[in-house]
Amino acid sequence: MNNLVIFGAPGAGKGTHATILAEKYNLYHLSTGDRLRQEVASQSALGLEIKAVMERGDLVDDDTVTRIVNKAIIEDPRGIIFDGFPRTVRQAKVLDLLLEIYHQKINCVVRIDVPRDELIRRIKDRSVTSGRKDDTDEAIIKRRLDEYENKTFPVIDYYRQNGVLLNIDASGSIEQTKARIAEAVAKHM
Ligand code: AMP
Repeated sequence: MNNLVIFGAPGAGKGTHATILAEKYNLYHLSTGDRLRQEVASQSALGLEIKAVMERGDLVDDDTVTRIVNKAIIEDPRGIIFDGFPRTVRQAKVLDLLLEIYHQKINCVVRIDVPRDELIRRIKDRSVTSGRKDDTDEAIIKRRLDEYENKTFPVIDYYRQNGVLLNIDASGSIEQTKARIAEAVAKHM
């Protein structure tokens, strides 16, 4: 079974390229951000708990997020493309353990790399259609990028050491990035 991780800063295009890869390789597209937004929208007890955290642009706690991921692994028989997860080294270690329990592994981690100025521009463009509060406010956007640099950046080293990291320059168009990802990922599937 194939499992992929798509990894990149907010605004890098993780959702777009995860959708493309999910279709190509018949994977279940698990976006932890989407799942968490659904919880908030449903006004569940968990949703009410995490609403303020997400609106600030902070990361939701590891236990909440790993519970969601565990449930998804059980729910869908296909392999998974993880979008927006793991975001901390602790989450990355939990993911390895979870996959081991189910006798699975990660084929590769696709890191899409975009300069910070371009990320801010893309998030602001996206805010016109996404309707997301955390895409509109420049202070929250910066907070999310800081969270990425402080807590998520170390995850890159974790995967580099495990030998599964693919670095993709994603500063160009969607089509250019799509082609670069396709070429790199094909060797691992
Ligand atoms: P995203 O849609 O991936 O940009 O995520 C939006 C927000 O959801 C983030 O700013 C976090 O508050 C939360 N979130 C999504 N995925 C995770 C995760 N793996 N760990 C912690 N928080 C997350």
